[in-house]
Amino acid sequence: MLIFHSKSDLQNHLETLRSENKKIGFVPTMGALHLGHLSLIALSKESNDVTVCSIFVNPTQFNDPKDFEKYPSTIEADKQLLISEGCDILFFPTVDEMYPNGLNENKHFELGELEQIWEGEHRPGHFQGVCLIVEKLLQLVLPDTLFLGEKDFQQVAVLRKMIAQHKDLSNIQVLTGKTIREADGLAMSSRNLRLNPEERKQALAIYKGFQFIQQGILNHSFDLNELKKQFEDQLYQNGFHKIDYIAFVEPNEMREISQLQFPFLVIVAAFLGQVRLIDNFYLTHEHTQRI
Ligand code: AMP
Repeated sequence: MLIFHSKSDLQNHLETLRSENKKIGFVPTMGALHLGHLSLIALSKESNDVTVCSIFVNPTQFNDPKDFEKYPSTIEADKQLLISEGCDILFFPTVDEMYPNGLNENKHFELGELEQIWEGEHRPGHFQGVCLIVEKLLQLVLPDTLFLGEKDFQQVAVLRKMIAQHKDLSNIQVLTGKTIREADGLAMSSRNLRLNPEERKQALAIYKGFQFIQQGILNHSFDLNELKKQFEDQLYQNGFHKIDYIAFVEPNEMREISQLQFPFLVIVAAFLGQVRLIDNFYLTHEHTQRI
């Protein structure tokens, strides 16, 4: 695997590959890699000649400075994981390399309502920072395909919107990968490294809540407010001390639904100790039918 720290070295190398008509897949990450990230590398390798992964903890997308400071870093292990997965190129720049003029760039992305709801509402400025860095990375890598995880469902919608509005990037295809979970159901996340053993057990209440809702619908409990209330109670009983949101939303615009309509997503963001966990669960009519 080739490792680049400088934008120009990366660009020069990719230009050569492009002149050889190589198809390029790109997986942006913030490191502390796990099987979720690696599943996106594997997906990219299925349909591309070259897979590029970036590791960059992007300061402009953290609305909470403490969250940024405590973001885990496991770069040596990350490199080994990428090599074992067959990743071709790692781009691992410094903050100065990505933000040579400082962090306060005067740029605004029009994201509409998506920026006012859920993650947008609870993490002001987060999606502007995400768009800022992903735009820079896409302009550098110019991939044929960008690979994103459904774990960050709203981020996928935001980035699709940013890319569609950008004339230089609009022919980049966006493909998504399913959420990879631990054996017990907890969604893999770099932030899980910050959970202590007790919290790690309590964190499972999110997945259990999803199963509870699925089971509830199977049993014809169609009152979404009641299901939501019970999910909230279960999180509080399991040590979560703050819930940013639990909601039922339709998958396109992520607008809240008040009555059952398929398919829909259950989305959740909640705090366990210092750690904010987010997850979502996709339910179709078929998922809620007895076989
Ligand atoms: P991050 O390093 O958390 O910024 O994530 C980098 C990419 O990996 C994003 O597209 C995430 O949605 C995706 N990702 C994170 N966790 C998972 C997971 N458990 N399963 C699949 N993809 C994931």
